Amino acid sequence: MGDAYAYKCQKCGYEEYFNQGHGFLVHPQSVQEYLGLKKQLFHYKTHNKIVSLSKENESLRIKAAFQIYMCPHCQLLYDKAEVKVYKGDKTIHKSRFRCSNCERKLKLTNIHRLSKATCPICKKKTFKRDHSHHILWD
Ligand SMILES: [Zn+2]
Ligand SMILES: [Zn+2]
Repeated sequence: MGDAYAYKCQKCGYEEYFNQGHGFLVHPQSVQEYLGLKKQLFHYKTHNKIVSLSKENESLRIKAAFQIYMCPHCQLLYDKAEVKVYKGDKTIHKSRFRCSNCERKLKLTNIHRLSKATCPICKKKTFKRDHSHHILWD
């Protein structure tokens, strides 16, 4: 179960939904369950990392959820499936993302505190949360 947050550009009218939370397949699971799916849910580098870690370690678990990230430089928003691989309570791998515009590292953002971001279409800082369109998804 997750939340979708609508953002709308005040200038050009562009709208986009950003997801946060768990999806149908993106949720906490064991590495065995994940590999048993025979599906590559995540970025290929993350997927390959999980496969190689599972060969060296036993009983690993995956924590996966959609998170909203922002580029600290461009202030563009992204929703990404964040993946953490852990053994016991130790995190041994964590996914990282880069901005497709400037290649800088993205930072996790608190959508509840974020009022304005950059519109991906017109690049103006008029991309605002549309509170009338908050939906729950599964
Ligand atoms: Zn715009
Ligand atoms: Zn950027």
